[in-house]
Amino acid sequence: MQQSLQATHRLRQSIARAAAALAATGADLPGRQEIEGLLAAAQQASALMDSMAQSDQDLSITCDPNGEVTSISAGCLATLGYEPMELAEGEYRRLVHPDDYATLRESLYNALSGTASTNVEGRFRHKDGTFVWLEWTITPLADGAGAYGIGRDITMYKQYERLLRESEQLYRALFEYSPDGVFTLDFEGNVITMNPACTQISGYQPHELIGQSLEQLLMPEHQAHAVAILHTVMQGEAQNFESAIHHRDGRVLYLHATLVPLVLEGTVVGVYGVVRDITERKHAEERLAHMAFHDPLTGLANRTLFIGRLDQLVTENVSNQPSFAILYLDLDDFKIVNDSLGHRTGDLLLVEAARRLKSCVSAGDTVARLGGDEFTVILEGTQDTDDAIAATHRILRELTRPYDIDGHKMVVTPSVGVVMGNQGDDAKELLRYADIAMYKAKQNGKARYEAFTPVMYNHVLQRLQLETDLRRAIEHREFRVLYQPIVELGTGEIVGVEALIRWEDPEHGVISPAQFIPLAEETGLILPIGRFVLEEACRQGRKWQETHPNLMVSVNLSARQFREPFLAEEIVQVLQETDMPPTLLQLEITESILMQESATTQETLRHLKALGIQLAMDDFGTGYSSLSYLKRFPIDVLKIDRSFVDGLGENPEDTALVRTVIQLAKALNLTVTGEGVETAEQIAQLRAMECERGQGYFFARPLTPKAIDELLVNGRNW
Ligand code: C2E
Ligand code: MG
Ligand code: MG
Repeated sequence: MQQSLQATHRLRQSIARAAAALAATGADLPGRQEIEGLLAAAQQASALMDSMAQSDQDLSITCDPNGEVTSISAGCLATLGYEPMELAEGEYRRLVHPDDYATLRESLYNALSGTASTNVEGRFRHKDGTFVWLEWTITPLADGAGAYGIGRDITMYKQYERLLRESEQLYRALFEYSPDGVFTLDFEGNVITMNPACTQISGYQPHELIGQSLEQLLMPEHQAHAVAILHTVMQGEAQNFESAIHHRDGRVLYLHATLVPLVLEGTVVGVYGVVRDITERKHAEERLAHMAFHDPLTGLANRTLFIGRLDQLVTENVSNQPSFAILYLDLDDFKIVNDSLGHRTGDLLLVEAARRLKSCVSAGDTVARLGGDEFTVILEGTQDTDDAIAATHRILRELTRPYDIDGHKMVVTPSVGVVMGNQGDDAKELLRYADIAMYKAKQNGKARYEAFTPVMYNHVLQRLQLETDLRRAIEHREFRVLYQPIVELGTGEIVGVEALIRWEDPEHGVISPAQFIPLAEETGLILPIGRFVLEEACRQGRKWQETHPNLMVSVNLSARQFREPFLAEEIVQVLQETDMPPTLLQLEITESILMQESATTQETLRHLKALGIQLAMDDFGTGYSSLSYLKRFPIDVLKIDRSFVDGLGENPEDTALVRTVIQLAKALNLTVTGEGVETAEQIAQLRAMECERGQGYFFARPLTPKAIDELLVNGRNW
């Protein structure tokens, strides 16, 4: 009886453990179904056992002093499937399982020869051929009269004892061979048992971990969370969580843990845990997260992270005082490095620039690469513009130091825009301000910084507006071409006209080219505009040719147009379409075109020249080219800039300069035109210097074709 009670207790314990183990392991566990089956059977057996214990039937026998069974109770016979009188006395022996016969017999003789009761169990054949386990307590009768035995059907116990053994074996196997770490904790959260996988994962031997508290094993920042989890589990609720410990070799191990309460007879007595090493997955996740917020080339923060940090600062910065500064950097002419030395060198340069930039700021400052050669910095805790400027100087110095990239020595400068962190309540807006200031630094000559001012912002707005208007003007054909006479100084005859564009804006009236040509060049809108002027001037020139066969028409070309590879072809096409003789067309180019000095510039100029087109150098003296430089290009006409003509006769330096230019130009076989002639005195001077032609308000302002017609017809001579 005692044995059975112990078995019952152990069975219950085992059931609780198996249930906890099952709850904790994943669905992919090998043998899971088998365990589930066993568990269900064990639970059933346990229930049956309980009910049986309450309805114990009377099983008894008596034996004579020789050990022969003399009587057997009806309950006993019924248990074995027989009617009360069905068996004869001598047949009882047959009921005993042959393997158990000796044991039973020995127990019986022990009882007969002694005074105390003995316990024995054995199998007895049921009428249907199966065996029934009976447990006997055999007590000697007084005076050696034999013995009597009280029996009990323990077949069920035997069955679930077997189940128990099997399930314990299975549990053991699971515990020993599971690739997951399996352990149990006591109510205090200390490790009681652990399987070999725990050692494999953590590097610690059982004696190093058993007795340790789970909390202490975890990394400090994970401890509080684990304690809370453990508390919930102790309340009877299983939990999953992720945590980290130090491997015995010191590296950080990330673990996924499942903790399941170990419930025994309704009470939580401990915790059963399963852990899995998820370090690799964690690292992959970290890499992904890093990639989402960093620039892969330089490792700096990317735009998303930068704006995120800025957003945070803007919200924090509730006071009106600036508390941080933003720098916006763009490397000057980086494209040239990339194009001439290749992307690999370009990339290495960016990496080095990023490294230097980082070295200039504090560890807590955010440095980002927004893309291309654009970098941004947040200088935190910078309350004063002077501090921000000082930091900017440091950065400019550091980034301007010569670079040695793969053996290429080079100097690269940044242009920097600076804005303080109180000038906008929106992160993106602030970044835009910094960008505007950077743009201003570029405009003002590069390799420098500019601090943002609201005026800059207005300029940008105006520019944007102008660009929009300009696009609309092209679409609505709001342009007109005026012509300014060019006069032969020797004869006073009009030998040509210069086509000058006017924009007639319906809202703002006439806008001068000085106001919109630079923007049109920057945006590329000069291409359609230039084409329009050329067509218009050629069409008009062809008309004038009928009345004045030698009148030349001069058209301005911008540097941007010269970068187009098919400029010459386009001009040829216009000449053909308008039937304008090339020899009557003059193109005015500026020194900056020659400064581009690419192979295509030379080629285009020669091509145009070969067509018979005249080439004039406009605004001469305002650029940096010298006369000897001009020799290399097929130029026919030199137009001396208005600023020099202005001082003729009054400013001796200007007078000397104009004289020299005219003399040298003559030596180079160039025809000279004086621009911006406003007075008779200036004409007199130019004539004295044998300057061939003049152009300016003194003769006429830019005029409509009709007004030019009148001038030509009236044949006015100066
Ligand atoms: P530019 O080619 O040097 O043209 C001469 C400019 O000087 C014209 O200004 C003309 O009106 C002005 N001017 C002529 N004589 C006098 C004078 O006696 N006194 C003063 N104060 N000014 C005089 P405009 O028409 O305003 O053009 C300015 C510039 O815009 C031109 O300088 C040229 O560089 C550019 N431009 C004009 N039309 C075109 C065009 O169709 N295409 C291109 N690419 N540029 C153009
Ligand atoms: Mg011109
Ligand atoms: Mg000019």
